[in-house]
Amino acid sequence: MKKITFIILLLFYWSASHSQGTNKPQVLIITTGGTIASKTNAPLIEGHDLIQAVPELSNYATIEVDEFINIGSSKMTPLIWLQLVKHIREAINSNPEITSIIITHGTDTMEETAFFLNLTHQSKVPIVLVGSMRSSNEISADGPANLINAVRVGISPEAIGRGVMVVMNDNISAARDLLKMNNRRVDAFPATELGFIGFCDPEKVTFYRSPIKLHTFESEFNVYDLDNLPKVDIVQDFAGLDSKILSYFLNRSNQGLVISSFAGGRLSQGIISEINNLPATHKPIVISSSIKGSRIMGSNPQETPIIIANDLPSNKARILLMLSLTITSKIDEIQDFFNKY
Ligand code: ASP
Repeated sequence: MKKITFIILLLFYWSASHSQGTNKPQVLIITTGGTIASKTNAPLIEGHDLIQAVPELSNYATIEVDEFINIGSSKMTPLIWLQLVKHIREAINSNPEITSIIITHGTDTMEETAFFLNLTHQSKVPIVLVGSMRSSNEISADGPANLINAVRVGISPEAIGRGVMVVMNDNISAARDLLKMNNRRVDAFPATELGFIGFCDPEKVTFYRSPIKLHTFESEFNVYDLDNLPKVDIVQDFAGLDSKILSYFLNRSNQGLVISSFAGGRLSQGIISEINNLPATHKPIVISSSIKGSRIMGSNPQETPIIIANDLPSNKARILLMLSLTITSKIDEIQDFFNKY
């Protein structure tokens, strides 16, 4: 009799611990390449091998790996962004159990991919981008810890509704705020003027604030049926710029232009003369400060209507202009988007 009770108890404990295992949150890790997938002087590591090298991930979640692409992120393009956001939607639709999406990514264009997804992923399923500054075979490689932290953030119930996030060096950044400020240090993405939104400490993941600009599930930018995005170029202003440079970009086959200006939105004479000669209807031009983290305030200092990017750096202003152009080419409506997102 005692023996039977013992066996029943054993079965009970086994099934309890077994069901605990399967109850772990399901996380989809989409790999795209970057230094986190690199070894010095060797080809990029394939997605499955990259994730298998960090077995501790299964302590937190049931992991599914999906190698989307394997490139250095300097090769990222708007077309790949479009394919990525559609791919994410298909993955979520085909498995509603997915609690979060983690994207491994190179750091060169991480700001851009994160901001693009922040504006186009029309869902509350959290997306966390993660990369590393050191290759996987360097001493103190930061990739494995960053990856574990990204999963911890992604499965945190508090991650829901905070927009796309980036986890690097124990810090959680909002996609809109993220700025790469160094190419050598593991703290390449430091706290900007607006600060981190949370931290990954050994005991727990803690969030302290939420981004207030519109994002993800609140976004009006529905790109799921698009095959490509409007083309937008960036022109860097500099002392003594020849107005022919701006004229070249204005006459190119693009639908809009971002001018990366001096700190407060001031422009060289070459740009001003060209802008003031524009016809009443011209392609939308956004002025963004070339000083990362700066803000251009107030109204347009030129007579010709242009859009002010406020605190968005030119690479993010370009993305917001591209998305705005999928809806309108009216300057005042685009300015509204720049105020809201
Ligand atoms: N070359 C890398 C990239 O793919 C740099 C990095 O990941 O840190 O962006």
